[in-house]
This record gives sequence, C-alpha cells and structure tokens, in this order.
Amino acid sequence: MVRQIQWSSLSQVLANQRPVQTSIKTRVTLNSGVQMPWLGLGVYQASAGLGTQKAVKAAFEYGYRLIDTARIYGNEQDVGIAVRQSGLPRDDVFVTTKLWNSDHGYDSTLLAFQESLRRLGLTYVDLYLIHWPQPGMRNETWKAMIRLLKEGKVRSIGVSNYTIGHLKELLGQSDIVPDVNQVEFHPFLYQSDLLEFCQQNKIQLEAYSPLTRGQRLDDPAIKQIAAKHSRTPAQVLIRWCLQHAVVAIPKSSKKERILENSNVFDFELKPDEMRQLDSLSEDMRTNWDPTTVP
Ligand code: NDP
Repeated sequence: MVRQIQWSSLSQVLANQRPVQTSIKTRVTLNSGVQMPWLGLGVYQASAGLGTQKAVKAAFEYGYRLIDTARIYGNEQDVGIAVRQSGLPRDDVFVTTKLWNSDHGYDSTLLAFQESLRRLGLTYVDLYLIHWPQPGMRNETWKAMIRLLKEGKVRSIGVSNYTIGHLKELLGQSDIVPDVNQVEFHPFLYQSDLLEFCQQNKIQLEAYSPLTRGQRLDDPAIKQIAAKHSRTPAQVLIRWCLQHAVVAIPKSSKKERILENSNVFDFELKPDEMRQLDSLSEDMRTNWDPTTVP
C-alpha cells in the first residue's frame, strides 16, 4: 500500500516535470480547465484568400487542431471558412485570435471582438489574446476580456508579448490569471526566466516564431542534432519547445512543410541535446522587442 502511494506520487512528480505529448492530438490543460493542443498552425503572413484556407485545410488533414490567427493578419475570414468547410466538430478545433493595438480600451475591445467573431463566422473563440501590452490601456482591455470570458464568448483569455513586468502588473490588478502568454521563443531567444515565471503562475507559455522565421535553420549545432535523429532542423526546433512544455505554432503555407512540422511526437531530444540548444541563446529577436514597452 505504502509502495503504491510512493509510486503514484513519484509518477505524478514526473508527469508534472515532463508533459506527456504522445501525438498531435495531445492537449495541455490550461489554468481555466480548457484543453489546448500542444502544436498548432500559425497563419501570420499566410496570404489572405485561398492561401490561408488551403494551409488550414492541410493542417486539419494532418491532425492539427489549433489555428493561430489575429485581426492584424487579415485572414480571420479565411480561417473561419476553412474551419466551417472542414466538417470537423466545432469543439474539436481550437481557434485563437488577437486584439490589435488600435483596439485597446474597454468598449473598443468588446467591439473589436465582435468584429473578429463576425469575420471568423464562428459563435465563439477558444482563446482571445491581447496582442501587445499597449501602455496605458491594457488594464481596461483586460477587464473587457474578462467580460467576454464570463459571457461565454471566449473559452479562455490570455496575453501576448508580455514580459515578467507586464504580467506582474496584470496579476496585481486582477484575480483572473491569463491562461496563455504567447511570446517569441526558440533556442536563440531562450526566455528561461519568463518560462519559469509563467509556470509558477500557471500561465501556459506559447512559442511564436519557433522556427526563427527560417533564419537560423542552417545553424551547425541544430543541423548536427537533426542529423543524429534523422530529422530536419525545423522538427528539432519544434521538439525543443515541446520538451520545455511550451506550445508551438510554426507557420507554413506549404503542405509538405505543414506535414513535416507535425512529425515531432515520435522522437526525443536527449538532456545534453536540450542543454546544447539552450546554450544557443543570444537574445535574438525576429519581431519587435516588448521589453522596451513600459
Ligand atoms: P516561424 O518561426 O513559424 O517561421 C515561419 C517561416 O518558416 C516561414 O517563412 C515558412 O515558410 C518557413 N518554414 C515553415 N516550416 C518550415 C520547414 N519545415 N522548413 C523550412 N522552412 C519552414 O515564424 P512566424 O513568425 O510565422 O511564427 C509562427 C506563428 O506565430 C505566426 O504565423 C503567428 O500565428 C504567430 N506569431 C505571433 C506573434 C505575436 O506577436 N503574438 C508574432 C509573430 C508570429 P513557408 O510558409 O514558405 O513554408
């Protein structure tokens, strides 16, 4: 009996340390209880119209269920068309969209959300994010996000590009913890302090630009690790996020790459390979730097 208890608590500890991600279907349970896939398709710079629709349909075909769009990407409408035409049950699909900077403020957030929902042609959104921590406005915006949550128009709410400072400010003013913080995250920008802070506060970190926008796929260390596992550099980068318990949303408009990026659940990076990748960090950003936002 005692042995059983010890074993179950040990396995619980291990389960807490390392997420069990056995397939693309595996989901992480967010603070709110909502379940979110570990891997999704990003559609920033996927061309509006058929380009985005085809990419999303290909992703669904390969088992992706999380699609990450934003008002500013100009393709919410196409994501919505692809979701509706997929024939998948709505509750099987996880749609994220984001509130753009010009829409901050209580009333304008409510209005901007309605517009996003209309463009998507859906009755609710699974995750609504504040795209950037706009100075002066973001706390009013967060109150409106909470209202959307309470009204059932969104299943979960979160933020994006929030630093530890922005998160502390939010947590100091609200009882509702963001479910997700979506930030740039890859070995060249290994934000370990932010990751730890989010884990301590039950905020799921989500990696954008996990492939460094293709800029560092030819890095010798990454190529060497990829070769050892008979994988591609892109697969190694995505796997690195997953093993850090970070949700990843690589973007591709190409069917074969969308498939390639999904084949990351049947190999494992060794601890020394993880450490080697961690050590590549050099504060490289492919996007604007939110640490300069007061
Ligand atoms: P990624 O790191 O996902 O890289 C995308 C680039 O890599 C594209 O040029 C793509 O080209 C290429 N690519 C994709 N797969 C492969 C592969 N297997 N081999 C080689 N090249 C590949 O960058 P993103 O900036 O797009 O980030 C992903 C998503 O994160 C975005 O789409 C968006 O949803 C989100 N995001 C959020 C931000 C925020 O502020 N919250 C900011 C930036 C992104 P191709 O399409 O031709 O395959």
